[in-house]
Amino acid sequence: MNLESKIKLLPKDILSVIKKAGSLADSMDVHAYLVGGFVRDMLLRRPNLDLDIVIEARHREVEQARHREVGQAHHSEGVQMDGILFAEKLAEVLGARLIKHKRFGTAVLTLPNHKKIDIATARKETYARPGALPVVSGGSIYDDLLRRDFSINAMAVTISKHNFGKLSDYFSGIADLKRKRIRVLHSLSFADDPTRMLRAIRFGERYGFSLERKTLQLFKAARKEDALNKVTKHRLRDELILMLKEDRPLKVISSIRKLYGFSFIDTGIRLSGVKLDFLRKLNKAVMIFRKHHPKKRVLDSWLIFLIGLLDGLDLEAVKKICADFAFARGDTKRIVSYFDSHSEVIKRLSEKNIRPSSVYHLLEPLSFEVIVLIMAKQNKSDIIKKINEYLFVHNGIRLAVDGSDLKELGFVPGPHFKEMLVKALYAKIDKVVKDKNEEIKFIKEHGSRHIKT
Ligand code: ATP
Repeated sequence: MNLESKIKLLPKDILSVIKKAGSLADSMDVHAYLVGGFVRDMLLRRPNLDLDIVIEARHREVEQARHREVGQAHHSEGVQMDGILFAEKLAEVLGARLIKHKRFGTAVLTLPNHKKIDIATARKETYARPGALPVVSGGSIYDDLLRRDFSINAMAVTISKHNFGKLSDYFSGIADLKRKRIRVLHSLSFADDPTRMLRAIRFGERYGFSLERKTLQLFKAARKEDALNKVTKHRLRDELILMLKEDRPLKVISSIRKLYGFSFIDTGIRLSGVKLDFLRKLNKAVMIFRKHHPKKRVLDSWLIFLIGLLDGLDLEAVKKICADFAFARGDTKRIVSYFDSHSEVIKRLSEKNIRPSSVYHLLEPLSFEVIVLIMAKQNKSDIIKKINEYLFVHNGIRLAVDGSDLKELGFVPGPHFKEMLVKALYAKIDKVVKDKNEEIKFIKEHGSRHIKT
């Protein structure tokens, strides 16, 4: 099969990069292929901007043919430099930034328009034991595709001039795309790398595909062995984040429940009716927030759903999960702050006569993610009203005066400046002061002890 006509339909800037990469490969006498998710999505006509290129030295092709002829496995060791050399030259041609990972024979280019290109040397992987990281050696494109997770992710398209667009589909990926199924390439796949179970759930949900019969059997067998337990937590964390970043996280969560359960995160997680209801509310709250805050900081919705899943665990258990999975410091802070504060914040927000400035004081230290969680956590319309007022009105209020005004008024500079300005801000939020003159008057009255004599 040849995909030249499909490639030509890609956005112009991507097509141009592909052509340049192909010509460069020809001039360096190596084979270049588009691989992985890019090929899959091109066949599904879904936009995918992450180019993934594999470079194969020409002699590998000859070796591969010979090994196939004599029907034996292909063991070729060697330094995997072809991809790195190619990446260095392509970076020059495209004016891209280059990060090399020599040990793995891989590189990442960042184009001036910030798009990324992954470049790798074709490689072969063997697993010493289940869940361990693989031993990597140089290989042919066939070897490189054989090490991949699913048939739909294991296709390659030649981009060198000769054979431009030729599809290599050794594992019937096209047939599986048509039949809408996720299929592993061999029966040890989940044992070799159990994170593929999470990837299977993710792609299955994203594309509406199901696990092929044998793959499902293998999945269930690996589940029985609690295969995910053998994987380092930080790899699970990365896959979990990707899963929760999918467009329909609730569906992903349902699939996890159906196919594996949540024991790989914590055995205490239960998806009760109440929890499901909470997650649905979260989904709604995220959508509303996004709609009304188009220009504000992007919401890390994956973190919201993760906290939603963990909700109900005690603070110590949550802290342990954060440490074991080594969540980034900022993520841990946001996760812990929800468990630490949400009950108290909700209690305070339900006080009838709470002043707007007190609402501000309560919510201002919290991230938007935690605020969205608090909104969804309870049903009271007056609390939601107070939170919305904070988000849409008070959160943006600024004073007209600043430190230099205070100096001009004769105040001695010091840490109390901040305190005075915060007091004035709260007064403004509570509509005690309206304009600059009133702010100045308020500050003079309340800060008289700091004034120069
Ligand atoms: P996405 O659209 O989510 O980015 P992707 O297919 O591009 O999906 P990546 O995680 O970027 O996914 O991986 C790129 C390719 O590397 C995959 O298409 C697959 O061929 C291969 N791959 C990634 N992770 C694994 C794994 N754990 N085992 C085997 N192959 C993998």
